[in-house]
Amino acid sequence: MVAPVLILLGPPGAGKGTQARMLEDDFGLVQLSTGDMLRAAAQAGSPAGRTAGSVMDAGRLVSDDIVTAVLAERLEGLKDRGIVLDGYPRTTPQAAALDGLLARQGRQVTAAVNLEVDDAAMVERISGRFTCATCGEGYHDRFKPPARAGACDKCGGTAFRRRADDKAETVRDRLAAYHAQTAPLIAFYQARGQLQRVDAMGTIAAIRTALSRIVGAVVG
Ligand code: AMP
Repeated sequence: MVAPVLILLGPPGAGKGTQARMLEDDFGLVQLSTGDMLRAAAQAGSPAGRTAGSVMDAGRLVSDDIVTAVLAERLEGLKDRGIVLDGYPRTTPQAAALDGLLARQGRQVTAAVNLEVDDAAMVERISGRFTCATCGEGYHDRFKPPARAGACDKCGGTAFRRRADDKAETVRDRLAAYHAQTAPLIAFYQARGQLQRVDAMGTIAAIRTALSRIVGAVVG
């Protein structure tokens, strides 16, 4: 069987990263987050990484060429693995580039799932979130605090980090970039008969259940 390729669509804060990590656990998919890849590149401090870092801090999209190159490198060697793309594609040219990269691996997009949310709720969701600095587990001040304050539920780590671009001002710019450049992808995948929708305003567990039903049907 050809290894499946799932895309998670939705604005910043919709829960793409959280749900993608759960799909890794539930279905053995590999999460590919271009945001994580770009943050790692920015931290490594290469010239391209530093450029990407300042664009990200401003809440804008990194250029299609840079992001696609970063993703292409990661995709190599994953031909036989099912993948869940979190944060890519984010523009129509990226969707076309993805088709090309997948064709080289003899596969295509299996399904794109749109996580549907209200903009107004996104600022609160994003500005409260943080992750364990050791294992990357995600938390939220209000919706998902660690069971024991100050310690990660998964690995016990005590250092946490918040993203530089999760400030309320930057979140508004990221939402604007989403509406201008990424939202058109919903119609793009709809026209190809590949779009599925999930109401992503509920709890993390409820969204996980709804998503699992869809993913179970397409991934088998
Ligand atoms: P994320 O972690 O998915 O919220 O991405 C954080 C930031 O990384 C975005 O606001 C963009 O600046 C950049 N980024 C991540 N993925 C892409 C992409 N596919 N295209 C352009 N920029 C991206």
